[in-house]
Amino acid sequence: MAEQKRQSYDVIVVGSGASGGWACKRLAEAGLKVALLEAGRPQSDKNFTEHKPAFELKYHNKAPEIIRKTRPIQIKFGVCNEYTYNWFVNDLEEPYTTPADKPFNWMGRLRITGGRTNVWGRVSLRFCDWDFKSASQDGYGEDWPLSYKDVEPYYDLVEKYVGITGSAEGLEHLPDGQFQPPVPLTCQETLFRNRVKEKLGRTVMPSRNANLTKPLNGRGPCHYCGPCERGCMTHSYFNSAFTTVADALGTGNCTLISNVMVHKVLMDPERNRARGVLYVDRVTRQSREISARVVILCAQSQESVRILLNSATPQYSNGLANSSGVLGHYLTAHVRSGGGSGEFPALGAKASLGAPVKPLGIYIARFRNLRNDPPYKKFLRGFGYEGGSSTKFNWGAPGFGEAYKKALREPRTSIDITGFGEVLPRWDNFVELDPDVKDIYGIPVLKIHMSDGENERAMIQDMGDSAGEMLEAAGAKNIRTYAHPSAPRWALHEAGIARMGADPKKSVLNQFQQTHDIKNLFVMDASGFTSNPCQNPTLTIMSLAVRSCDYLMSEMKRNSI
Ligand SMILES: Cc1cc2nc3c(=O)[nH]c(=O)nc-3n(C[C@H](O)[C@H](O)[C@H](O)COP(=O)(O)OP(=O)(O)OC[C@H]3O[C@@H](n4cnc5c(N)ncnc54)[C@H](O)[C@@H]3O)c2cc1C
Ligand code: SF4
Repeated sequence: MAEQKRQSYDVIVVGSGASGGWACKRLAEAGLKVALLEAGRPQSDKNFTEHKPAFELKYHNKAPEIIRKTRPIQIKFGVCNEYTYNWFVNDLEEPYTTPADKPFNWMGRLRITGGRTNVWGRVSLRFCDWDFKSASQDGYGEDWPLSYKDVEPYYDLVEKYVGITGSAEGLEHLPDGQFQPPVPLTCQETLFRNRVKEKLGRTVMPSRNANLTKPLNGRGPCHYCGPCERGCMTHSYFNSAFTTVADALGTGNCTLISNVMVHKVLMDPERNRARGVLYVDRVTRQSREISARVVILCAQSQESVRILLNSATPQYSNGLANSSGVLGHYLTAHVRSGGGSGEFPALGAKASLGAPVKPLGIYIARFRNLRNDPPYKKFLRGFGYEGGSSTKFNWGAPGFGEAYKKALREPRTSIDITGFGEVLPRWDNFVELDPDVKDIYGIPVLKIHMSDGENERAMIQDMGDSAGEMLEAAGAKNIRTYAHPSAPRWALHEAGIARMGADPKKSVLNQFQQTHDIKNLFVMDASGFTSNPCQNPTLTIMSLAVRSCDYLMSEMKRNSI
C-alpha cells in the first residue's frame, strides 16, 4: 500500500467491469498511468469451472440453502450458485435497504475483477436514434445529448474487439454491427422465425451475443459447452477480466489494486477539483488515500452514485457534482416479467445430457411504437424478447418399466421467450443514502426506491399477450403465457441516476460523461443513461466509455482538465 501512495497516477478508475475495463485499456494503451481500484479480488482462469460436473462439488450444486445464508439476494438469479457464489457480494456484509412496500432485488453484485461481465448473458445490441431522441418523438422525458452518429464509430470499434456473433437484418431500429458469423438457429427456431415474419411481420433473429464463432486476439471460438457464467478457459465469451483489463495491465501502465472499497471522492475545494479517492482495504479494514489528476467512476450505476452521495462536501452538501439536484433520481431498469412458451415438433431433435449446448438463442426485435407507425395506444416505448428452443426428456411421462423408459425418451421440444422492456425514467424512482445503515467497512449504504408505473404495467401485459400471439402464429401447442407485476424487481440493467444532458440544471453529466460541476470527475457506467431503451445496455456502456476516454485525453492534452 505504501508503494501505491508513492506512485503517481494520471487517472484513477474505480471498478473493473464492462466500463472500467474499457477505460483502463483505452487510457493505458495511450500511455497514461492508470490506477484501477477494484472492490473484488483478482480473477483467474483457475477459478473457471464450466467443465466441472456437479458431482465434484461439495454439495453437488443442490444445496441453495447453504448459499442463501450469505447471499439471500444474489441467489435469486441462477447464475449465483455453488460454482460461482464466492464471486458475488455477501449480502449481509454489504446490504442496501428499501421501503417496506417497494421491494427491489439488486442482483448481480459481483466482487471480482471483471464485475458483472463474469456472469452476464452477453446479449449485445445497438441503440438507434429513436432511442437517443425518444423524448422528441413521444414527448416523455429528455433526449440524450448525443446521437447515433456520435456513437456509431465506437460501436464498430468495441464490437470488433469484443467479438459479437449476429446476423445483419437491415432494421432501422436495431442497427446491424460488425458481426462474427451467427450461431445457426435450431429447426424449431427457424420455423418460429419464418412463421412469425410471414404472419405478423415481426423479426426473429439469432441472438447477437458476445460469444466468439471465430478466433479473435488469441481467444478461441466457442465450443458449446454451455455454462458461460462459470467462466471460460478458451476465453470465448467476453469478460473484461481476461480481455480489456488484461490488455491494460499488459501495457505496464495500469496497476490493479484489488480488494479495495472506494468510499468517497476527495476534493480540493479551493480549485473545485477532485484530487483522488478514499478507500477501505477490505482485508486490513484500513482507510487509505490515492491521488490522480482525473477520477473516473465505473463501479456500476448504484455503486458509483453511492460514492458520489457519500462524497458530499460543504460546497456539494447533497452529493458531489449534484448542483442540479437530480443525482440519484430517474432510476431505470428493464421490466422482464412477461413472456410465454409453447411446444413444437421435435423435427429430429433428441434429448441428451451430454450434447453440445448453444449458449444463446433468439432475439425478437421491438415492434411497438416504431417510426412511421401510429403510436401504440396502451404505452410509450417498447420491448424485445430473448429466448430460444430446448429439447428435454419427457420427465413427466406416465407409467413404469420398459414403457416408461421409452416414453421418457420421447423428446419434448419447446420455445420460451421473455420480454425485456424499457422503464420510463421517473423522478420518484430514486436512490439515497440510508442514514441508519452502514456496510461492514463503515460506509453508508443505499436506500433504493423503485416501483412500476402505469406504462410498465401495460407493457408487461402486452409482453405476455404478444408472446401468446407469436407462439400461436408459429403453430405451437400447449402455449403458456405470463405477465406478472415486476416488483420485487429483477434488476440487472439499472441505469440513469447520474444522467447525461445538455442542460446542467437538469443533468449531472455532459455527453462525455464528465460531471458538469467538476471537470476532472467522470462517471462512465450506465448511471449516465438519459433513458434506458429496451436493448440490453452493455454494448452502449462500453462504446460510450471509449468515446468519453477519447474526449478526456483530448482535454488533457489541451490542459483543460
Ligand atoms: C446475470 C446477468 C446477466 C446480464 N446479461 C446481460 C446481457 O445479456 N446483456 C447486457 O448488455 N447486459 C447484461 N447484464 C448487465 C451487464 O453485466 C452490466 O450492464 C455491465 O456489466 C455493467 O458494467 P459496469 O462497468 O457498469 O459494472 P460491473 O460490470 O458490474 O463492474 C463494476 C465493478 O465495480 C466494482 N465496484 C463496485 N463498487 C465499488 C467500490 N465502491 N470500490 C471499488 N470497486 C467497486 C465491482 O466489484 C465490479 O467489479 C447482465 C448482468 C447480470 C448480472
Ligand atoms: S459455451 Fe462457449 S463461451 Fe460459454 S463457456 Fe462454453 S466455450 Fe466458453
